[in-house]
Amino acid sequence: MKKFLKVSYIVFFILALWYWLKMSFKDNVNLHVDKSAKLLNFSDDLLEHLKSIHSLIKVNVGVVLDGKINNFTGWRAVHSEHILPTKGGLRYSETVDQDDTEALASLMTYKCAIVNIPFGGAKGGLKINPKKYTMPQLREITKAFASKLINKGFISPALNVPAPDVGTSEREMEWILETYKTLKPDDINYRGCVTGKPLHRGGIAGRTEATGRGIEEVIREIFRHEDIVKEAGLKNKLKENEIIVQGFGNVGSNLAKHLYNRDNAKIIAIGEYDGYLYNKKGIDINALIEFYQKNKNINNPKLGEFKDNPSELLELNCDILIPAALENVITINNVDKIKTKLIIEAANGPVSFEADQKLYEKGVMIIPDIYVNAGGVVVSFFEWVKDISHIRFGRVEKRFQEQKILDIINLIDKKTNTKTDFDTIKKIVHGADEEDLAFSGLEDSMRNAFIEIYNAKKQIKKSFRESAYYVSLKKIRNFYTAEGFPKR
Ligand code: GLU
Repeated sequence: MKKFLKVSYIVFFILALWYWLKMSFKDNVNLHVDKSAKLLNFSDDLLEHLKSIHSLIKVNVGVVLDGKINNFTGWRAVHSEHILPTKGGLRYSETVDQDDTEALASLMTYKCAIVNIPFGGAKGGLKINPKKYTMPQLREITKAFASKLINKGFISPALNVPAPDVGTSEREMEWILETYKTLKPDDINYRGCVTGKPLHRGGIAGRTEATGRGIEEVIREIFRHEDIVKEAGLKNKLKENEIIVQGFGNVGSNLAKHLYNRDNAKIIAIGEYDGYLYNKKGIDINALIEFYQKNKNINNPKLGEFKDNPSELLELNCDILIPAALENVITINNVDKIKTKLIIEAANGPVSFEADQKLYEKGVMIIPDIYVNAGGVVVSFFEWVKDISHIRFGRVEKRFQEQKILDIINLIDKKTNTKTDFDTIKKIVHGADEEDLAFSGLEDSMRNAFIEIYNAKKQIKKSFRESAYYVSLKKIRNFYTAEGFPKR
C-alpha cells in the first residue's frame, strides 16, 4: 500500500509538471478569465464563446528579395467582435505564433473594456527577425503582408485597426496606411486604418509616449492611496522607492523618462536583452536615453555598472519591479527568487499563471497588464477618433480658451487696479493643444479605471488581477445580456 501511494504520488507529480510545462500563453490568460468569470456566475456557453477567437487569418507572404522568393508566415486574430472595430498591435518577431497572437488578442479585449475604450480585441504578428532586413526590404514585406490582410477584411478603419507593437513602429504603420490608401481609395476614413502612425499622416501627438506615460499614471495613482502603499509595504513617497525596469524599448524608456523627470524617481536598474545597468544611487535616465539613441545599447559605465546577465535583473532587491519587455519572464523557474514588493506589468503577460499564484500567496502585489499598459490603446482611440472626424483636437477651441483666460486676467487687473506682468500671463494663458488633450484624456482614463478596479477589489477581496478581470468581464457581459446572447 505504501509503495502504491509513493508511485501514485510520483505519477501525479509528473503529470502536474507536464501540465504546467505544456501550458501556453493562451491557457494562462484563460485561467485568469475562468477565475473571475466564476465570481460573476458566468454561464458556461457565454464563457466558452468569450474564450474563443471570433475570427482568425493565417497568411503566407512570398516576397522576392535579391531575386529569390522569401516566405513569411503571419496571423491576425480577432478575439472579440462585441464592439467594432477591433483593435490591437502588429508584432514582428521570430517568436510570433498563432497561440501567442490569440492570447494577445484576448488581452486587448479585456484591456479595452477596463479603460472604457469602445473597441473589440485583436492582434497580429509576422514571424520575422526585422533586424535581418534592410529598410526597403521591410517595406516590401510589410506592404505584401498588409495587402493580404486588407483584402481579407483584416485591416480596415471600421473593422480592424492595427497599431505598433514589439518590432514595429510608426514607420510600419505608415507603410500599411499607404497600402490601404492604394487599395481602397474611396474610403474617406482611410487614415483610421492604423493608429500609431506619424503625425503628418494623421497620427496624434503623444501616441508614441502614451503606453509609458499611462504606466506612470498608474504608479502615481497607487501613491495617492495610503492603504495600498501600506498593504504593498512600500515607502510613502514614490521617489523614496527603488525601481527596476526590464526593457528599454518604447514602453520602458518612455516610462523611465516620465518617472525620472516628473516624479524624481530612483531607477536603480534598467535591463535589456544582453544585460542590465545598475546604479544604487539611481540612473540618470535622460543621459541614458541620449546614449541609447546613439549607441543602441545601455552599456555606459559612466551611468552605472553594466552586467551581462540579463535574467539576474528580475531577482535583484527592489521596491517596484516593472517588466516592460516580453511575456513569461517570471515563471515557476525564477518566482522564488523574486524580491520585490510591487510588480507593475508593463509588458503583456510577463508573469505566468502559476508564478502569479505564488507571488500572491507571498504577499507581492501585482498590478496586471490588462490595466497597466492600456495607455497605448487609449491614445490610439483618440487618434482613430481624430482620423474619422478629420480634425485635430484643440484646433477649434484653443485660441478661444486663451482669449477667455486673458479676459479674466484683464478683469481682475481692472478690479484690483493691478497689472499682471507679461511672463505670468504667458505662463497662465495656454490653451490646450493636441498633446495636452491626449495626455489629459489618458490620465483621466487610467485614474478612473484604477478606481473601478480598486472598488471591485474591495468588494470581492481578491487580487488586483482578479479584480481587473472581474471589472472587464462584467462590462463585456452587458453586450450579450442586453441583446440576448447569441443574437447578432
Ligand atoms: N500594442 C499595443 C498594446 O498591446 C497597442 C494597441 C493599440 O493601440 O491598438 O496595447
